[in-house]
Amino acid sequence: MSDDGKSPEAGDPRRLLEEKILGDYDRLGPGDTFKFRCHPGVSCFNTCCADVNIFLSPYDVLRLTERLGITSTEFLEKYTLLPVQQDMNTPVVLLRMGDNEAKSCQFLTESGCGVYTDRPWPCRMYPVGLASSRDTEDGFRGERFYFLLKESTCQGHREARELTIQEWLDEQEVDAYDEWGEAYKELSLHRYFDDVGPLQPSKMEMFFNATYDLQKFREFVFGSTLLDRFDVDEDFIHQMQTSNEALLRFGFLWIRFAVFGELTMRIRAEAERAVQERLEKIARDKNPESSESSESPQKDAP
Ligand code: SF4
Ligand code: SF4
Repeated sequence: MSDDGKSPEAGDPRRLLEEKILGDYDRLGPGDTFKFRCHPGVSCFNTCCADVNIFLSPYDVLRLTERLGITSTEFLEKYTLLPVQQDMNTPVVLLRMGDNEAKSCQFLTESGCGVYTDRPWPCRMYPVGLASSRDTEDGFRGERFYFLLKESTCQGHREARELTIQEWLDEQEVDAYDEWGEAYKELSLHRYFDDVGPLQPSKMEMFFNATYDLQKFREFVFGSTLLDRFDVDEDFIHQMQTSNEALLRFGFLWIRFAVFGELTMRIRAEAERAVQERLEKIARDKNPESSESSESPQKDAP
């Protein structure tokens, strides 16, 4: 919370949802058990993949674009909604449901999810949710806990299979998603937003491209002078040429540097010299007399 008591993410639907969860649900740990099984035999099979808000993370988008073999720009245009709200700190990306009456997910098939091995994190986790309180001093590593969503229409809760939360997480293969999710959380809950406030439009666009629209970020990284100006390891540059994950990693570093002002990037010595020379030239052009007089004593020196 900021000093005036107003939540810094007042307009962010993800934080509003988390605030509600913190108050409404029992907190579960990895060892707690629950009964659940989802399979084609349940009467509700496929019904939950419609008319639902699914927030996508940058890693969700990366996995789905690779799965579909299309660019991030194409994916974002066709498969997402980008609601814009006042006071929004970071981009909100929602999976766009289909245009049919039921508003079914565009990836739904008769036999289930058509992108199953690359389905987004919320689809993997359901009916288990993850939330964290934000009470700690560092602002984003608050207490993490799980909770169980128990919609009356979901027949999976009537199944006899009992398992722990940890067994569910292992089964859903969420490790990589969690790792990227934590890294992204550090960006989206950065102290910058408390100190400075929401991003200006140009910075918001940079943030969006470096996290979600990797096609545009790739064009920026390899189509500008960025790699001439900054000291980036050659092996890493090579990785970025072929791997979206490496590019996303670089995107997170770039945001810390270009948006939050952290020293995560090193400017090349030649580029630094060129900047210095340019600044000196600008100063000389502005004030030719002072530059002449400042040079004179050196010329006369023995
Ligand atoms: S991505 Fe797959 S699991 Fe998720 S809503 Fe769509 S069809 Fe269902
Ligand atoms: S409502 Fe529950 S049991 Fe039914 S398909 Fe969805 S997750 Fe599975």
